[in-house]
Amino acid sequence: MTTEKFLTRRSVIHSLGAGAMLATFGCAPATRALKPDYYRACSRKPWVAPHISMDAVIRVIVGHRPYRASGFRVERELFDDKIVIHNYGHGGGGLSLGWGSSALAVREAADLVPGEVAVVGSGIMGLCTARLLQDAGWSVTIYTRDVYRHTTSNVAAGEWGPFSTHDDSKVDAAFLSRLDWAARVSHHAYTNLTGTKYGIRWMETYDLYEAPLGEPVHGSFDDLFTYTGDLVPGEHPFGQRYARRMVTMQIDPGTLLRQLTADFQLAGGRFVIHSFADRAEVLALRENVIFNCTGLGAAALFDDPDLLPAKGQLVYLPPDPGIDYMTFGGGDGGDYGFLHMFPRRDVVVLGGIFKLGDNSRNVEAHETERIVQEHSKLFQSFG
Ligand SMILES: Cc1cc2nc3c(=O)[nH]c(=O)nc-3n(C[C@H](O)[C@H](O)[C@H](O)COP(=O)(O)OP(=O)(O)OC[C@H]3O[C@@H](n4cnc5c(N)ncnc54)[C@H](O)[C@@H]3O)c2cc1C
Repeated sequence: MTTEKFLTRRSVIHSLGAGAMLATFGCAPATRALKPDYYRACSRKPWVAPHISMDAVIRVIVGHRPYRASGFRVERELFDDKIVIHNYGHGGGGLSLGWGSSALAVREAADLVPGEVAVVGSGIMGLCTARLLQDAGWSVTIYTRDVYRHTTSNVAAGEWGPFSTHDDSKVDAAFLSRLDWAARVSHHAYTNLTGTKYGIRWMETYDLYEAPLGEPVHGSFDDLFTYTGDLVPGEHPFGQRYARRMVTMQIDPGTLLRQLTADFQLAGGRFVIHSFADRAEVLALRENVIFNCTGLGAAALFDDPDLLPAKGQLVYLPPDPGIDYMTFGGGDGGDYGFLHMFPRRDVVVLGGIFKLGDNSRNVEAHETERIVQEHSKLFQSFG
């Protein structure tokens, strides 16, 4: 099975939405017919290459995206006197969708009188859901096996990009419309949180391709990616022929989750550390309204055969404040996803794995070497 249908960032080619191409860097809005002169006039400071070698690797981590081919599950379910509202299964886009998907979930409780409520899970979905419930007047207890530091959410690489969330052939228009709504709400929420406190910043991003692209590739999300044009061979130093330049947000998951945890506690929220063995145990909670934000844990707790792990492996290099852009693409990722490089404040992150159905937790040394080598190739032409 290839990842082609999961990695919509690369596979979806749609027409450009109105207002998609905002002017940045003081230049006129980009168009597809731009001449190389545009970029010279719009030149940026020189790109700095990350220092990439096996010797520089400081850590390698593994995480599992909670992937559902049929898309995330936000739905209200009744079990006798208990109302369970599910909010899980966001694949490779959960960090990005946190606020929006949680807003969909909280809307499922709009007809209920706010009172005591349980949220199970304290990853991005649990924390965003809990904060939105508090804002709506609920008194929230988070029950969780792991605090934020040990969640999948804390493993996320950190691009704002609601991608790799579903299989296009398995979803309907209603799901796509909810995904679009959730993405826009989330995007809006994150733009209000930019700055060091929540670990969110705007950053230039390059999608790298061998063949020229006629259209932007983010489907209905194109207008959320400030698109600033395409660089042709000779106009950039990357080890692929074409580079599509845009601007999006970079999220440092550790900072964000820590701050959301603090916000939750400041607003009176409380944590109970508990690992639920099965659904019956969840339903035995004293609260009558329960939000299920257990990510991959929902597969066992609520018997969801559609929910599968998609293994990822990230390579950490020492931080380099000189690198002020992210890259996607390059390498021979084959079935396992394309390369990505994110310069966070604490580390430079290299990734390039999406192994659907792989639940193994071990670091794969050959994948670390592949990710390092392919990234080295991508940056070897820098001066
Ligand atoms: C390598 C990698 C890179 C990624 N990069 C990005 C990215 O750049 N951008 C992006 O948007 N997304 C990215 N993602 C995806 C994102 O991390 C996930 O979609 C998101 O974190 C899912 O959040 P969640 O809150 O649903 O689940 P989790 O973070 O897994 O949280 C689940 C919570 O439920 C609790 N729980 C589970 N089972 C039980 C149980 N039985 N009893 C009690 N508690 C339980 C856990 O302890 C945890 O607190 C990436 C993921 C990986 C693995």
